[in-house]
Amino acid sequence: MSIRILCPPYVQAVLKALHDAGHEAYIVGGCVRDSLLGTVPKDWDVTTSAHPEQTEQAALASGLKTFRTGIKHGTISVLSDGVTVECTTFRIDGDYKDSRHPESVKFTPSLVEDLARRDFTVNAMAAVPTADGWEIIDPFGGQADLGSGIIRCVGNPIKRFGEDALRILRGVRFASRLGFAIEDKTANAMYAAAGGLKSISRERVREELMGILQSPDPEWAIKTMKKRGFLKYVFPYADVTAAARGVNETPADQPLFRLAFLLYGTPDDAVQKTVSDLKMSGADAGFVRTLLAFRAETLESSPLLARKMIAKYGDVALPALSLRAAKGEDTSALSDIVSEQLRAGVCVKIADLAVNGADLAVIGIPKGREMGSVLNALLAKVMEDPDLNQKDVLLALAAEIYKEK
Ligand code: ATP
Ligand code: MG
Repeated sequence: MSIRILCPPYVQAVLKALHDAGHEAYIVGGCVRDSLLGTVPKDWDVTTSAHPEQTEQAALASGLKTFRTGIKHGTISVLSDGVTVECTTFRIDGDYKDSRHPESVKFTPSLVEDLARRDFTVNAMAAVPTADGWEIIDPFGGQADLGSGIIRCVGNPIKRFGEDALRILRGVRFASRLGFAIEDKTANAMYAAAGGLKSISRERVREELMGILQSPDPEWAIKTMKKRGFLKYVFPYADVTAAARGVNETPADQPLFRLAFLLYGTPDDAVQKTVSDLKMSGADAGFVRTLLAFRAETLESSPLLARKMIAKYGDVALPALSLRAAKGEDTSALSDIVSEQLRAGVCVKIADLAVNGADLAVIGIPKGREMGSVLNALLAKVMEDPDLNQKDVLLALAAEIYKEK
């Protein structure tokens, strides 16, 4: 059956380079799945019979640059029209030790063997252009499963999850992203193989969790992970099941906000353990922690309080208010005031004052501790009344404060 696939010309150029050199080459995996679903793929991967050096030669012969980005796994990146296309040699994964990476990879001349090592039937399809459209190579029934909305392992699910337990989370991620059901045997095997997730690197777990949080239905995903017995391997320090209610209504493009939403009922020490356990970047961990620190703030619609919040929470003040709103509190009046103050560029730190240390030195205030305490006193006054933030007013005030000390 031939099908239309909107494969960009820069990808077709890579296929052609490999075909011209006498190799088999196909687009494969997620891009075939997404094309058949009518959605735009994130990236286009190529699978080929060419060994890595042959891919390099074929690309060179067609005037395309290459990079050895993942040669250990048989991957060469080909630069085509300014975009990188990953070309991976047909391969069979070697034995898996401890549910993690394969011990070794072995190349194979067989496309079907390459497809057989892939995780789910919907991800195990390849496609190649023909004279009248695209031919889909689908030995495991991926198109049928796409049609009925099913995530099903290629081969024996217990064995496949045993090889790489991350696939358990990938399965949940694809199901919640696509709105698919997980086929029974695959779902039961998730339960049976869940313990393997203990040996998966926390970075890989975090990446899948972030993908799940960006899907349309993280609530279903959390409940499914709980039901199948592996939510505890994703969140060893917090049971977020009850907090999953309502998470779908929060913005899907803000996974960190969604994470904070899930952790809203979790005590600070467990929040801390969770973000460090997930090996989040300092900035991401800080954002989540700050959103949750804001839980303890008293909400009152006053401009002074709004400025104090901006001083303490900076850019996180507004998202933190949104989080409390998402949890059912009425924050609209205070949010309006905070937005207004942010827009006005209100003074909330010493650097925002209309005077600096040099100005104070001119009127005779000595540098060091004394100047620091005068600047802090000025800031406190300006926080109370932003209209005071003018150079002459502050110099007069500073002289007064210094004299009283
Ligand atoms: P996405 O749109 O999220 O990128 P994808 O299907 O392209 O989805 P990738 O992680 O980019 O997923 O992997 C590309 C392909 O490689 C998959 O479609 C699948 O065929 C295969 N694959 C990736 N990870 C695994 C894995 N852990 N086990 C088996 N096959 C995998
Ligand atoms: Mg991909």
